[in-house]
Amino acid sequence: MPDTLTPPSIPTVPVTPAVLDGLRAIVGDKGLILDDQGKEPFVRDWRGTLVGSAAVVVRPANTEEVSKVVKLCHEHGIAIVPQGGNTGLMGGATPYPMHSGILLSLGRMNKVIEVDAVGYSMTVEAGCILQTLQETAASHDRFFPLSLGAQGSCLIGGNLSTNAGGVQVLRYGNARNLVMGLEVVLPNGDVWNGLRSLKKDNTGYDLKHLFMGAEGTLGIITKAVLKLWPAPKDVATAWLAVRDPQAAIEILSEAHAASDDNVGSCELMSRAGTDVVLRHIPGLQDPLKADTDWFLLLEWSSSRPKADGPPGSMGGMSEKLEQFLAEQFETGRVLDAVIAQNEAQARNMWTIRESVAPASRAEGGGLSYDVSVATSKVPVFIDKGLKAVLEILPSIRPYPLGHIGDGNIHFSFMSPVGMDRETLGQYSPAITRAVNDLVRDMAGSISAEHGIGIDKIDELAHYRSKVELDTMRSLKRALDPKNIMNPGKILRL
Ligand SMILES: Cc1cc2nc3c(=O)[nH]c(=O)nc-3n(C[C@H](O)[C@H](O)[C@H](O)COP(=O)(O)OP(=O)(O)OC[C@H]3O[C@@H](n4cnc5c(N)ncnc54)[C@H](O)[C@@H]3O)c2cc1C
Repeated sequence: MPDTLTPPSIPTVPVTPAVLDGLRAIVGDKGLILDDQGKEPFVRDWRGTLVGSAAVVVRPANTEEVSKVVKLCHEHGIAIVPQGGNTGLMGGATPYPMHSGILLSLGRMNKVIEVDAVGYSMTVEAGCILQTLQETAASHDRFFPLSLGAQGSCLIGGNLSTNAGGVQVLRYGNARNLVMGLEVVLPNGDVWNGLRSLKKDNTGYDLKHLFMGAEGTLGIITKAVLKLWPAPKDVATAWLAVRDPQAAIEILSEAHAASDDNVGSCELMSRAGTDVVLRHIPGLQDPLKADTDWFLLLEWSSSRPKADGPPGSMGGMSEKLEQFLAEQFETGRVLDAVIAQNEAQARNMWTIRESVAPASRAEGGGLSYDVSVATSKVPVFIDKGLKAVLEILPSIRPYPLGHIGDGNIHFSFMSPVGMDRETLGQYSPAITRAVNDLVRDMAGSISAEHGIGIDKIDELAHYRSKVELDTMRSLKRALDPKNIMNPGKILRL
């Protein structure tokens, strides 16, 4: 739990031997983990900073079992923490230390139920690994665009419950935009079957959007109908040294038309962030040794097969991108650039971007703020934010990065060299206030894509209006009057 947080009050009804027998009757012995060693990876968060407890980890095999488990817990008032791949960064999937109920892991529910290539959709269970779904779509010559650094271990139910963002939001939207239907087990154990493959469905409240981004506080997502797109056939990936964040925004702004609306991703990186990755993640090459603080990973892609260019040219998207970069070089926005010549070079660029989280974990303590402002305001935010933070702690080491096409900055800082976690913790409240006040003043969001979980519960209460918080509480109380579904996350009731 963050050092400054007073734990919210949550139900602490214990799992009695009779309830345990009931759980065993539903999921069998192979669906229960009772020993401390077996529970450890479930009750500790990805960053390793939060450790909670659970009487038992329950691993149901299908929706019917989830429903029966939830009904049993509802009957007894036992709290449930739903968990997918446990890669969330806000503590939403981690039980509190005083949690006496169950942790419900979706990991065994990993079937792809149907791929409708003609209708561009697939129906899947919530425990499918994101990368498996990307590969499944590709094997049908289709594309599932959700893509993020944790894709090898996060599960689609977790992605939808956090309304995950990632590196393709610019073009395809965040997780909630990729969904046509959901199946959800409600806090009383009832199953809501909203598994509709419909693009148009104006039949009252659109319930599926309640559960996406709810971080498991309103019910358990058990299945989803996901949208698919044509598979990209012609992809050009470039690593650009850019003058500054303002140049990065202007490059992106002009890239839309220059690429015929084919910009897939646009990720801002700093020299410091790139260096952290190169220090900790083996086997990577620095794409450019340019003397600048700022880089841009720019990718254009089209579902049309690559067209041949004139002899000696790259052809297709790469050629278009090369022309564009030459023009941008003339404006002074681009200082140097390299276009990946093959899959391995493109993968190297992407691995650098995607390895920032594991590399910064390896580097040790730090602070990171997942915030968003209007895209055009990103440079001002970075400039003012850096000044404000460095005024509080001049020796802190910034490495801002982010999905700048979405106005989403991971405003991240490594500890000053030699400073321990406790000492950094003394500065953290003042830095958090400075960053989040700036976000508020710029009409931004204090959580762009990672959610609220445990970590930002008090920040949300500080920055959102009473009307908004009360409306959220009314929804929570209406659906979960016993407060058993991931209690104490997002909101204090
Ligand atoms: C290296 C790395 C890179 C990352 N990059 C990004 C990024 O670019 N963009 C981004 O948005 N996030 C990113 N994340 C954060 C994280 O991967 C996402 O939030 C992801 O969507 C979480 O999925 P999960 O299966 O691990 O969920 P978990 O961590 O298990 O759970 C997250 C929340 O959802 C709830 N939950 C899980 N499954 C269900 C379900 N089936 N029904 C109801 N509630 C459920 C949990 O209770 C919890 O509140 C990154 C994380 C790491 C470690």
